[in-house]
Amino acid sequence: MMAVYQIVKIGDPVLREKAKKVPKITPNILKLLDNMADTMRDAEGVGLAAPQIGISKCVVVIDVGEGLIELINPEIIAQEGEEIDAEGCLSIPGVQGDVKRAAKVQVRAWDRNGKTITITGTGLLARALQHEIDHLSGILFVDKMLQA
Ligand code: ZN
Repeated sequence: MMAVYQIVKIGDPVLREKAKKVPKITPNILKLLDNMADTMRDAEGVGLAAPQIGISKCVVVIDVGEGLIELINPEIIAQEGEEIDAEGCLSIPGVQGDVKRAAKVQVRAWDRNGKTITITGTGLLARALQHEIDHLSGILFVDKMLQA
């Protein structure tokens, strides 16, 4: 059964909070991952962070068209290069703008089994990883948007 959350919009204080680390994987965290994936797909987004559904926890889902990636407590552990490209956010409808990001990032996180995984992304995946991990620190892409 599909469960779709309502997406919180800019102006809601939860988007500016520092999200809490997940101390351990519980059935609630697994349900959160499933429902976040449903919500992201329903909204036709490429990524979603838990604060965007009002839950201030370090949980992210991403799908840039290469399959679902689930990340718990993700951290950027390495980055290189620079790339400027357009970005948007499900929490900021109707706004798009250029943001400078690292061209390549390496991220360490837990998967849904609590196993530590490392993901390396370039292009859209690198951008989505940085955008979603920013959400966990209360940072929105409009904070970094380049002036036209
Ligand atoms: Zn966003």
